[in-house]
Amino acid sequence: MGMRGYKTELDLNNEQITACKKHAGCARFAYNWGLSRKQAARQAGERMPSARDLHKELNTLKATEFPWMYEVSKCAPQEALINLDEAFKHFFRKVGRKKAGQLRGKPGYPQYKSRKKGFGSFRLTGSIHLFEKSIQLPRLGVLRLKECGYLPIGVKVAQATVSEHAGRWYVSIQVDDKQSSAEPACGPVIGVDLGVKTLATISDGRAIVNPKAMRARLKKLRRLSRWHARTQKGSANRKQAQQKLARLHARIAHIRKDALHQATTSLVAKNKPQVERPAVIGVEDLNVSGLLANRKVARAIADVGLSEFRRQLTYKAEQAGVVLHVVSRWEPSSKTCSGCGWYKSDLKLSDRLFHCAACGLVMDRDANAARNLALLAYLELCSTASYAGIHASGQERSGWLGTVSETILDEGGTEPGTDGSVHVCPSFG
Ligand SMILES: [Zn+2]
Repeated sequence: MGMRGYKTELDLNNEQITACKKHAGCARFAYNWGLSRKQAARQAGERMPSARDLHKELNTLKATEFPWMYEVSKCAPQEALINLDEAFKHFFRKVGRKKAGQLRGKPGYPQYKSRKKGFGSFRLTGSIHLFEKSIQLPRLGVLRLKECGYLPIGVKVAQATVSEHAGRWYVSIQVDDKQSSAEPACGPVIGVDLGVKTLATISDGRAIVNPKAMRARLKKLRRLSRWHARTQKGSANRKQAQQKLARLHARIAHIRKDALHQATTSLVAKNKPQVERPAVIGVEDLNVSGLLANRKVARAIADVGLSEFRRQLTYKAEQAGVVLHVVSRWEPSSKTCSGCGWYKSDLKLSDRLFHCAACGLVMDRDANAARNLALLAYLELCSTASYAGIHASGQERSGWLGTVSETILDEGGTEPGTDGSVHVCPSFG
C-alpha cells in the first residue's frame, strides 16, 4: 500500500531535551557547513562535493575542530548532509524546469538554517524500537511518548525524525502499511455518541470527559474575550488582548487535539488482542455545519472538534482492523429508547435524561444514544458476511451486546433490517 507517516509528541526530561537540542544544533551546523563548502566549490568552478565526500571531511575535522560533535549520534550530521544534497537536487530540477518554461516561480536556492526559526530537526537511522509508551532511538535511548498506544508496535522502522515546534518535541516515523495492517477485530460492537458536555459516551458504559485543563481554559477564554471586547480599537490594550487571546486559542486547540487522539486511540484499542478490539464502532453522521448554524451550541460543538474526532477514528479504525459504521443522521438515535424502541418525538436538546414512557427506562441521554448506535452497527454487521465468520469461529464476544446478539440469533434468526429495527430485541437493556 505504501508508507504511512506517524508523528507524535515526546515527553522528555531536561537531560533529554538538552540532548535533542544538541542533536538538532549539530544537524543545523552540518547543513550550514556543507552549504558553504558546496558554494565555495561552485564559485571555484570545481565539482560540488557530495554528502558522502562532506561526511568524510567532517569526520576528520571532528577530531580537531569540532570535538563537541562526538556528543551526538553520527547520524545527525550525516543525515543533514543528505538533506542538503536533496535540497540541491530539488533546486537543479527546478532550474531545469524554469529553463524549459515549465516553472513560473523561483527555483529556490538552498538557504542557511537559522536558530532564530527554532531548534529545527534531526534524523536518526539504525536501531529504532517502538513500544506502547515509548520509542527507543540510537544515542538518545528510550524516550517517553505523550500518547500511549498510538505508534504501531512490532514493525520495522528505518528512520525517525525528531523536531521541535513552539517548545514541544515530536518524533515522526514512516511505516510500511503492509506491516501495520491488523487482523480484523472480533470483539464487541460498540456505539459512540459524540457530545458537547461529555467528549464521547460509549455504549458499554464508558464516558470520555473533556480534559480538566480545557474546561479551565474555556472559562479563562470567556473572561479574556470580554476584556478584548471592552478595549478600544487600535489601542495598546487591544493589541495585548489579541495576543493573549490568540495564545489561549492555540493552547485550547492543542489540548483538544490531544484529548481526541487519546480518545480515538483507546476506542479502537489497536494494540489489544483481536477479541478485545471492537469489531464495529457505530458513530452518528453528525451534520456539523448544520449544528453550527445554531449559534448557542456552535462554540461548544466546535470545541469538541467533532469532525477531527471522525477523521482520527476513521484512519485509526482502519489500521486496527475495526469497522467504522456511520449511522445516517436521519436515524433517530437520541430519540429512540434503547430498551424497547419507543420513539420519544418531543425530546428537547436540554433534556439530559431519557425517560421512556413505554418501558420505564431512565438513562443518560448520551448513553441511550450510544446504545442505539451500537445496535444499528450490530444489525449492519449481521447482514454482512464478515460477521458470520466471526460467529462461526466460536469466539466469545464480551459486553452487553454479546448477550443481545445471542438472543437475536437464538430466536431463529430474526431478519435484521436497518429501518429502526431496534425493536427486534425484547431483552435489550
Ligand atoms: Zn423503552
